[in-house]
Amino acid sequence: MPKVLLVDDSAVMRKIIQRNIKESGMVVSEYAEAGDGAQALDMVTKDDSVDLILLDWNMPNMSGIDFIKSYRSLNLPKKIPIVMITTEGSTSKIQEAKDYGADGYLKKPFTADQLRDTLGDYLLVN
Ligand SMILES: [Mg+2]
Repeated sequence: MPKVLLVDDSAVMRKIIQRNIKESGMVVSEYAEAGDGAQALDMVTKDDSVDLILLDWNMPNMSGIDFIKSYRSLNLPKKIPIVMITTEGSTSKIQEAKDYGADGYLKKPFTADQLRDTLGDYLLVN
């Protein structure tokens, strides 16, 4: 079962995402949490057991987009899929994220159905 790394500077949002994943019937074995991109980068370089990264855009120290740029440039053997979950919903921002290697994109606030549609490819649905 998948291990998910939740990256968001809001601890409340990290809890909301976890609760919505559970209520959507998706299965996660373990969560790791990071409060900014720098913490997340440190974690994924040391721990290759993460199967999916859920990533906020606006965070202190290192933003989500800067995390993607840094992470992809490391060129680690395991390419962990990255789904951005963010209030940044403009077409240009979404395109920028995808250009740098985001695999999926979900705008906050999201519904349980939207979450399931976006993450269902990565997390088993009961
Ligand atoms: Mg934020």
